[in-house]
Amino acid sequence: MEHFLEDRKSKLEIFRTRVRKKIVKTEKIDIPSDLFIKSESCQELIYNDDFLKSYKVCPKCN
Ligand SMILES: [Zn+2]
Repeated sequence: MEHFLEDRKSKLEIFRTRVRKKIVKTEKIDIPSDLFIKSESCQELIYNDDFLKSYKVCPKCN
């Protein structure tokens, strides 16, 4: 039972780090409102719409 819990915990940790890694930091830029955002990792301008559709993952650098 204990082993099972440990296993589950470590899987959860792996999942969390993966999710954290995938989410790209972005900064708002001053083009009309929230139309575009800029990926901090690749400096690419992304349609905010596209960005949200891809679950806040930058389509250029992931
Ligand atoms: Zn990017």
